[in-house]
Amino acid sequence: MNADAFRAHVRKFFTETTPAVLGNDGSGVQRAQSWRAALFDAGLAGFGYLPQHCGHDHPDAYAAIYAAESRRRVPREDSVFGIGVGMALPTIRDHASTSLQDRFLRPGLRGEEIWCQMYSEPGAGSDLAALQTRAERDGDEWVVSGQKVWTSGAQHSDFAILLARTDPDAPKHAGITMLVLPVRQDGVEVRPLRQMTGDTEFNEVFISEARIPGDWVVGQVNGGWSTAVALLAHERKQTGVASMQNAENQRSRAGRVPIPASQLIELARQRGRVDDPLVRQDLARLVTGERIVNHLRQRSGIHPSIGKLWRTRQGRAAAEVAASLCFPAGPAWIGTSPPDGHEHDDYFSFHILNARGMSLGGGTDEIQRNTLGERALGLPREAGPDRNTPFRDLPKN
Ligand SMILES: Cc1cc2nc3c(=O)[nH]c(=O)nc-3n(C[C@H](O)[C@H](O)[C@H](O)COP(=O)(O)OP(=O)(O)OC[C@H]3O[C@@H](n4cnc5c(N)ncnc54)[C@H](O)[C@@H]3O)c2cc1C
Repeated sequence: MNADAFRAHVRKFFTETTPAVLGNDGSGVQRAQSWRAALFDAGLAGFGYLPQHCGHDHPDAYAAIYAAESRRRVPREDSVFGIGVGMALPTIRDHASTSLQDRFLRPGLRGEEIWCQMYSEPGAGSDLAALQTRAERDGDEWVVSGQKVWTSGAQHSDFAILLARTDPDAPKHAGITMLVLPVRQDGVEVRPLRQMTGDTEFNEVFISEARIPGDWVVGQVNGGWSTAVALLAHERKQTGVASMQNAENQRSRAGRVPIPASQLIELARQRGRVDDPLVRQDLARLVTGERIVNHLRQRSGIHPSIGKLWRTRQGRAAAEVAASLCFPAGPAWIGTSPPDGHEHDDYFSFHILNARGMSLGGGTDEIQRNTLGERALGLPREAGPDRNTPFRDLPKN
């Protein structure tokens, strides 16, 4: 297929196949899985993978055509694969054994298996290397015990990318291993956490002697910190500039992305506020923000924390404009909603409340700024006495 034919093929997928697939009945997750299977079968799921894993052998240059044609068209439902397709699978591709790649890449890219990320713990968020979940070898398996928290999507996940401590005698960054945890097993209990939006999008997870095959290690045993950082770079890219790919006109609870400026311009029209100079100024700022991030998207080598910080600022600014247009006299409220994944009458209300989480998930704004200061600007590292002390001897949170 030449480049023009490929471009036409992508357009047809979004204009004809996508509405047909999403029009089917089923939960948001089921429709997301149908859409991803259709994407894979059309040869469009994943670039930069081997043909046996992504199901096509398009030239690398076609990734840019796909990115341009899919911009603002990917259904929000696809956010259920944000952790798998956006973070776990590229990390497995780059750091795991061939047998793990063969086991996980194809079903993950086709949406047959859903992933979550088990990094954060009650005593380890920004200070992720303080994690205390333990994994110990028992014959051919790892046995894992501990507690994770804020695990988005664990309730419908098949596998988790898990960080666990495998050598408590090593300094805290040196004794961590990245493992693939099968979520649906007796030793894993997923308990939902209700957010101020009313939804239970994330969970606390209690792990009690859960089992993992011995070779389901991503990267090296005790070398998990570097693979953890590699995954975080994918996460920040995913939550930052990549989040601009979501469908512009769709009104759904799925996905944590800034409310598109076009929807707010329409809202201002409906409310008779579009001639108000202060509203126009706010809207112009949002449009400018979107233009900037679109230009950033086209540059390679940009630090992923920049995109993550952009999303936070844009998301909060858009939420404030929505609030001033919808609820000038008070806070947002939660109304009644149709089944998951469909249009919601409380769409703006939901996203006004949901926007706050953008500053936290994937690493807080302060941590992004620290990262940029230290890694991009070369400022001195934050002081910390614990880099060479065995983890066992450190005070715990
Ligand atoms: C919507 C959402 C989804 C999430 N999904 C997942 C998930 O799927 N999997 C997962 O593992 N985790 C997930 N998280 C957890 C997220 O990664 C953590 O909330 C985040 O890393 C912050 O950790 P913490 O909540 O423990 O806050 P803390 O680390 O306790 O931070 C508290 C405050 O102190 C500040 N602070 C801390 N350290 C520093 C420092 N060194 N310099 C300056 N300021 C600092 C922080 O910026 C923050 O304001 C999610 C969180 C949210 C909100």
